[in-house]
Amino acid sequence: MVDLKSQYLDIKKEIDASIQEVIGNSTFINGPQVASFKNNLAQYLNVQHVIPCANGTDALQIALMALNLAPGDEVITVDFTFAATVEVIKLLQLTPVLVDVEADTFNLSFAALKKAITPKTKAIVPVHLFGQCAHMEAILDIAKQYNLYVIEDTAQALGATYTFIDGTVKKAGTMGTIGTTSFFPSKNLGCYGDGGAIFTNDDALAHALKGITNHGMYQKYYYDVVGVNSRLDSIQAAILDIKLPYLDSYNKARQSAAQFYNNAFKGCKHILTPVTSEFSTHVFHQYTLRITNGKRDKLHAYLKENNIPNAIYYPVALHSQKAYKTENVIEENFTNTNTLIEQVISLPMHTALETAQLELITKMILNYK
Ligand SMILES: *Cc1c(COP(=O)(O)O)cnc(C)c1O
Repeated sequence: MVDLKSQYLDIKKEIDASIQEVIGNSTFINGPQVASFKNNLAQYLNVQHVIPCANGTDALQIALMALNLAPGDEVITVDFTFAATVEVIKLLQLTPVLVDVEADTFNLSFAALKKAITPKTKAIVPVHLFGQCAHMEAILDIAKQYNLYVIEDTAQALGATYTFIDGTVKKAGTMGTIGTTSFFPSKNLGCYGDGGAIFTNDDALAHALKGITNHGMYQKYYYDVVGVNSRLDSIQAAILDIKLPYLDSYNKARQSAAQFYNNAFKGCKHILTPVTSEFSTHVFHQYTLRITNGKRDKLHAYLKENNIPNAIYYPVALHSQKAYKTENVIEENFTNTNTLIEQVISLPMHTALETAQLELITKMILNYK
């Protein structure tokens, strides 16, 4: 599904030197590389504050911790995402309210969101799934109307941009109250281990977030709130600082692979290619098809047999998972996620896909009737 080795070999010299520098100086924690990467990422995103942390799940958890929510407060998020998004809501004893997604973009359904807001709702966590932004303009409007926080889960969409009706263009993760991301190796900007970051334009929130990542400590050995230990280590920061200038070209490589796939499947009635919404760019963390003839599982098995990597993201809706099931679920509220889990299949997507590989993958899929 991903080829991280080819990407490394292309920039090996720079990467190796940057890692060696950290080891040479033995500044493993909070070295100058962390500050440098933090500033460069803030500049790239055009956001006031970047707070690095240990991974994308921590980033979400710390973001929610900084908002001083009370147990039982409701946080609305999508039914169709990686579990981390809903897991942290539960862990903090908040009440996750799962809502349906759009069938075409796989992102938060605005109609479902509107219906889910109650007097207990305090925050919305839209996920920019598979590489394109959720409909932030509508989400931010309704958040303002009901005085809700918005935390953008940008783990899959770093570098995507969103265009507002007035023409303003913003990067994914910088539009809401707080944005979070992951630098897991296979993400669009991946390190060589675990890493994550939190973004905000709010000075007070940035201060709170930074303290929480460091045990709730704002003055040496004085603990004002209960925090966590969540750091991006210097070696990962050094690697990310080398890779950041390549992010846009990496995303372009993903877009050209997606274009190849789109062209190949054009005219194929039972294959729906990814829909890119008019207000967002798509940086294709995943290239995900919908197979509408009921043969998705058979195609999945056939490709596996023929050594063509592919994956089902996601095979089970969160509202049906043991850990996140609630009583009195109304299945009609999840028409789209219930359909998507039966139809989706993701194809190999990374920055080093060659034409011959793309030809083979698409040929195998088109051959399968
Ligand atoms: C990867 C991912 C996360 C979690 O990131 P980690 O760094 O693995 O903790 C959260 N949300 C989404 C949507 C993701 O894809």
